Amino acid sequence: CAAAAVLVSQRVKVRSQKCTARKILLEFQEACDTPVARLRQVVDAMAVEMHAGLVSEGGSKLKMLPTFIDHLPDGNERGLFYAVDLGGTNFRVLRVQLGGLEGRVIKQEYEEVAIPPELMLGTSEELFDFIAKELVSFVAREGEDFRLHAGQGREIGFTFSFPVKQTDINAGSLLQWTKGFKVNDAIGQDVVAALQGCIERRGYKMRIAALVNDTVGTLAGGRYWNNDVMIAVILGTGTNACYVERAESISKWGGELPKSGQMVINMEWGNFWSSHLPRTYVDESLDNESLHPGEYGFEKMISGMYLGDCVRRVLVRMAQQAGIFGPHVPHKLLEPFSLQTPDMSKMHHDNSSDLKMVAEVLKRVYGIQNTTVGIRKIVLSVCDTVCQRGARLAAAGIVGILKKIGRDGSAANGLNRRNNTFEQSDVNGTHDEVPVNCPTGSGKTVVAMDGGLYEHYGEFRNYMQEAVVELLGEASKNVFIELSKDGSGIGAALLAASYAEYVPT
Ligand code: BGC
Ligand code: MG
Repeated sequence: CAAAAVLVSQRVKVRSQKCTARKILLEFQEACDTPVARLRQVVDAMAVEMHAGLVSEGGSKLKMLPTFIDHLPDGNERGLFYAVDLGGTNFRVLRVQLGGLEGRVIKQEYEEVAIPPELMLGTSEELFDFIAKELVSFVAREGEDFRLHAGQGREIGFTFSFPVKQTDINAGSLLQWTKGFKVNDAIGQDVVAALQGCIERRGYKMRIAALVNDTVGTLAGGRYWNNDVMIAVILGTGTNACYVERAESISKWGGELPKSGQMVINMEWGNFWSSHLPRTYVDESLDNESLHPGEYGFEKMISGMYLGDCVRRVLVRMAQQAGIFGPHVPHKLLEPFSLQTPDMSKMHHDNSSDLKMVAEVLKRVYGIQNTTVGIRKIVLSVCDTVCQRGARLAAAGIVGILKKIGRDGSAANGLNRRNNTFEQSDVNGTHDEVPVNCPTGSGKTVVAMDGGLYEHYGEFRNYMQEAVVELLGEASKNVFIELSKDGSGIGAALLAASYAEYVPT
């Protein structure tokens, strides 16, 4: 009888745990909600901030950095080029032999290494010397077949996936670190000079022809194959976008206007902020405990470095207030960033009836045993909520860019084709009078996409695509989001070729 009473009281307890956890879930879902009306506000805010960021330095949290790239690869690039790519988690070196329009990419080789974590928080000298060392040893292993094509020395495209204020195609100072990097003495330094110096100290002479953000490399890599590519987006450890802008729209540009009339702008959209974003207690505490508090709030809601931790923070609340993982909160659960996005994705994609994968991840990462299917379902819903919010915000960002360049279809009234461009009315002051045109004037817009989050997280991809269609309606038929895998490395090599000193004939 006593045993039965204990059982009953346990059942009551389990039920009340579930009930409290559900309440926490519902509250969180409500706070994260992104109905289409709200997304439209984010779209508009993005377009407005883009404008503001182009008008004056510091005009917006969107840095809208001119890249000095006024023409993109067109297929005529020839010769042997190198690229180094320093981004989120991995470092890559690559060599590619370009054969012009007929040959295109004749041959390419690359190597990838994980960046030693201590270098992400060390000194500038250590970090750039590591890059130089890997590059030099890779170059030393250049095969005879490549060597034949090297011509006069080897030029490099340097993909550096952090905000840089460029002063030339191959010069620029680091504005700040993002993601998992914090190498304080590098801030304000010219990153090209820093790397160049380390290469020379190792007895090599190689010219860095182009300094490019990973979005810009992806844009170049995408455009090389497809003329309709106008925008590139990274959804990986961090997130960002770049696009082709009309040079005369860049009011803050002090220099001469490029002949092409266009310039690629690195938006640094990770730092975008708007009161319309659905910010929650999770975002607040994550920001406070992050490496870069107060910065890159949009990135912290969207990108792979942070999504898993958003989930973890909700689970912590459920563990503390509802006891979903037993009487004690598992110790490891309290550790920031202990739940990584790939594990979140695994749980999210679990479609077994008893959610085995959710149980497996909770057990492996946190040592949590014996979860009920009910609790697992709640955990999966938290993953779903965080993923959906991030994906829909990314979609709103993309549509914001389309709006800014007059390709969101909203100018349908009075649309008028002339010289393959659209003329349109200025709907709310955020449109350009004449949209930026792509070389083919096909009316299609391709967004070149790269990054592990997009590539590996199917639900994220689906939610994003769905939101783009919701926002654009019919016009979404002319917008294509295409995975351009590892485009940024090859893109940097292509830009090195475009901007090389020595141009082989
Ligand atoms: C950086 C961007 C970069 C993005 C994707 C962000 O944290 O600030 O420069 O493009 O991550 O790698
Ligand atoms: Mg990368």
